[in-house]
Amino acid sequence: MIVLRGYKFRLYADDTQQAQLTCFAGVCRFVYNLALEQRRDWWRQFKATTGRQISYTTQNRDLTLLRAEVDWIAAAPVDCLQYALRDVERAFSNFFAGRAGYPQPRKRSEQDAIRFPFARSRWTKLNAKWAVVLIPKVGEVKFRLTRDIPGAIKVVTVSRDALGWHVVFTTEIEQPIRPSDKPAVGIDRGVTRTLALSDGTFRDLPKERLNVLERRARNQARALARKQKGANSQAAAKRLLARTKARIARLRRHWNHERAREIASTFGFVAIEALDTKAMTASAKGTVERPGRNVRAKASLNRAILAAGWQQFETFLGYKLAAEGGILVKVDPCRTSQTCSCCGATDKKSRESQAVFRCVRCGHTMNADHNAAITILRAGEQPAPTPAGGRPSKREPKRATRSRPRKSSWLQPGGGF
Ligand SMILES: [Zn+2]
Repeated sequence: MIVLRGYKFRLYADDTQQAQLTCFAGVCRFVYNLALEQRRDWWRQFKATTGRQISYTTQNRDLTLLRAEVDWIAAAPVDCLQYALRDVERAFSNFFAGRAGYPQPRKRSEQDAIRFPFARSRWTKLNAKWAVVLIPKVGEVKFRLTRDIPGAIKVVTVSRDALGWHVVFTTEIEQPIRPSDKPAVGIDRGVTRTLALSDGTFRDLPKERLNVLERRARNQARALARKQKGANSQAAAKRLLARTKARIARLRRHWNHERAREIASTFGFVAIEALDTKAMTASAKGTVERPGRNVRAKASLNRAILAAGWQQFETFLGYKLAAEGGILVKVDPCRTSQTCSCCGATDKKSRESQAVFRCVRCGHTMNADHNAAITILRAGEQPAPTPAGGRPSKREPKRATRSRPRKSSWLQPGGGF
C-alpha cells in the first residue's frame, strides 16, 4: 500500500528570500482568485462560446496567455501557479461531492503558501542540524533538519503562518500490510474529557496551558477591537493575536500527534464515531434558502474549533494506525451516549448528567463517556450486515478508507506547526 506523508520543518529564509516568497505567494493567490472568479462568474459564457466546461486544462491554457502578457505573473515560478489552478479544481470537486462548502477567494493573510513538484527542487544536508532546499527562482534556503525524510518526495510546500515560514515535503511511502494482534478499543471524543477510552482511561488536552493561551487571545482580540482602523498599532495588535492563535493550533496539533501515536502503537483495532462533516462545514448563518436565526457566533466558533481538532486527531490516527497494521472503524454516532454498555437498553433518560450514566432498565452506573466508548467499541466490532438481512443496521461500521493526511495547510482549519 502506498501512503502519502508530510514532513514539516522550520525554514530560515533571509530577508531577500522572504520578500520573494511573499511576492510569489501573492501571485499564486491572485491566480487562484482569478481562476475561482472565472469558474464562478464566467462558466455559462465560456460554455456558450466554446461549447466546453472550464477545467484545469482550459485554465492552464489561459495561464500561458496571461504569463505572456503580464510580467509580474511571469516572474513567479510556473509550477506554483499551476498548483494554484489545481487547488481551484480540487476545491470545486470537493464542493460538488458535498465534502466542503462553496470555494471562497483566498485572502491576503499570514497563511500564504506556494507549492511545486520536487522534480523542480532538491534538498542537501549541510550537517547534522541544517540542510538547504532549492526553491524555484528563489534559490537555496536553509531549514532546520529535525528528522529524517523517509520515502520518495513528490511535492514541496512552502508556507507561512504567524510564527514564520515552513517547508513541508510530501513523500510517498510503500507500506507493508501486516495484520495486528493488539487489543481493540473504542474512543469517545468529548468536550469535558477530550478522549474517553473503553478501557476506562482518559486522555485530556493540556487544559491549563490552553486556558492561558485562550485568555491571552481573548485579551488581544479585545485590545485589537479598540485600535483605530488602519493605524500601525492595529497591524501590530493583529500580528500578536495571530501569533497566539498559531501557538494554540500548534499545541493542539502536537497533542493530537502524540496521542494518536500512543493509541496507534497500543491498539490494533480502534472504533470511533463518524463525524458529521456536513454539519461541521455548514455555516452558522445557514443557507440562502434557510437562514439561521439567533446565530450564536461564539458557540458556533467554539464548535468549529473543537470539530477541527477532532477531525485532525482522526486523520493522524488513521494513517498512524495504518502504518502499524491496525484498523480504524467509524461507527454511526446515533445514540451512542444513550445506550447502556451493560444491557444494551437505549434511553435518553439514562444519561443522568454530563458525567454520569445510570441505566433506567438495569441500573448500571458508570462514567458517561466511558460508557459511550464501550458502546462505540461494540458497534465497531459488529460485522457489516449482509444485503439479504433486509434493512441495513443503524450501526453499520464504516471502514476508514482514507489513510493519508490532508496536506494543504492553508485549507486546514487550525493548521499550525
Ligand atoms: Zn442497562
